[in-house]
Amino acid sequence: MHVKIGLEVHVQLTESRTKLFCGCKANYRGMKPNTNVCPVCLGLPGALPVPQKDPLILGIASSIVMNCRLPGKVVFTRKHYFYPDLPKNYQITQYKGYGTPICLGGSLRYLDPDEWEWREVRISRINLEEDPGRSVYEEGGIMRSKYVLIDLNRSGVPLLEIVTEPVLKSAREARRFVEALLLTLEYIGVTNPRLEGAFRADANVSIYGGERVEIKNIGSTLDLEKAINYEILRQEKLIEFGGKVIRETRHWDPIKGVTRPLRHKEEESEYLYMPEPDIPPVPIEPLMKEAMARLKETPWRRFEELSSMGIPREQAWSLIQTRPALELLLMAIPLGGDPILLAKLIAIDLKGELKKAGRNLYHRDNWPSPKTLAQISKLIDVGSINYDYVKLNVIPKLASNPILSLEEILPKGKANPKKLAIIAVNLSRKAVKDYLKGRKRALEYIVGVGVSMALSKGLSIDPREIRNEILKLLKSNKINI
Ligand SMILES: [Zn+2]
Repeated sequence: MHVKIGLEVHVQLTESRTKLFCGCKANYRGMKPNTNVCPVCLGLPGALPVPQKDPLILGIASSIVMNCRLPGKVVFTRKHYFYPDLPKNYQITQYKGYGTPICLGGSLRYLDPDEWEWREVRISRINLEEDPGRSVYEEGGIMRSKYVLIDLNRSGVPLLEIVTEPVLKSAREARRFVEALLLTLEYIGVTNPRLEGAFRADANVSIYGGERVEIKNIGSTLDLEKAINYEILRQEKLIEFGGKVIRETRHWDPIKGVTRPLRHKEEESEYLYMPEPDIPPVPIEPLMKEAMARLKETPWRRFEELSSMGIPREQAWSLIQTRPALELLLMAIPLGGDPILLAKLIAIDLKGELKKAGRNLYHRDNWPSPKTLAQISKLIDVGSINYDYVKLNVIPKLASNPILSLEEILPKGKANPKKLAIIAVNLSRKAVKDYLKGRKRALEYIVGVGVSMALSKGLSIDPREIRNEILKLLKSNKINI
């Protein structure tokens, strides 16, 4: 292939309780500016960073889930640069020249839902590092704002910098990889990728073995795909018209849909990397047990488990994407629900209704209880209600009010099976013909029509009774087709 893509994905450890080197919160969202700070993350003189347990455990767990070679000790490095939102004038990160990163040489195995193929992308390394603060531009953004506001709530938040080998071959593949990476890290409790600013990606793109161009700070997986596609096209056109691709850093403009050259970026040597003198190396061994405890569940193991139950892959995929849906299924099965029936009901009908109603799919309270779903499954199983009725009448009600009980939703009063049989037969001419020609299965269709008729009027019906009445009619020769 003529396209080579390598990625650097920065993922915030939003699920850590603390920042990397102090006890301030890792999830600063919704807080007033500069309230989630202390002398350490403000970079005040004399304040010493102390590596915190939570981010270290999450970093180690991430490395294990990506089959990494772990170092014996975590060693931190200083990277110097000046920027208003970096009060210390250096960032504490990791660098392979000075002690090893938290992961060296791993891989992520995941399912690509475009081709339904398992892929394995090699990870070159993972660094554990601190996020800088935020520069906030009021009125008109960076170009027009008269001043810059500095918010240090984010300063010191733990980040993983995940660097892949340049092995991805298309923009789509790059996007799928990042989605798989974020899903994996979400499952082991490292990050919540839906939080604003929880990740950003840089992409290195080269074609025909030429110079690589780095696109910085892409904030969504959709933008990642667009930015890489744009960059491939730009480089192709450049070569086609006799130009040469130069090594440079570009910025993705999501509004205009183009990449543009960025200011000159420091060379590696300009960062003056040096071992962090304030933090002694941290041994990994004492943290391994807690890190391992995080790894009970991965989306890929769950996918295989659902597939082995006979659940179609599209539905299994849909379920692992939305964890509350997956958990609902896994809780409803032991209560007597049928896995295949429930998977379809949850992954297609219920999820669809919730989406239509604009509900947040990741909020557990928006989903009905496992008990209600197991009950529905059993009622369908014994033939008391049929699937279409549930889909059309029960699911929309549960989607708008998940705490409704089935007793409140299901019909009251009984339908008259004789009358209903006549209506069902009259409405099912083709099925009646088929049945009379000897296709016995056509009977089920006619019964289904009768049951739906009753339910649509809010009445219950025993499918066996209506089946008997229909059979009587079919055998009586009174039918004119
Ligand atoms: Zn702090």
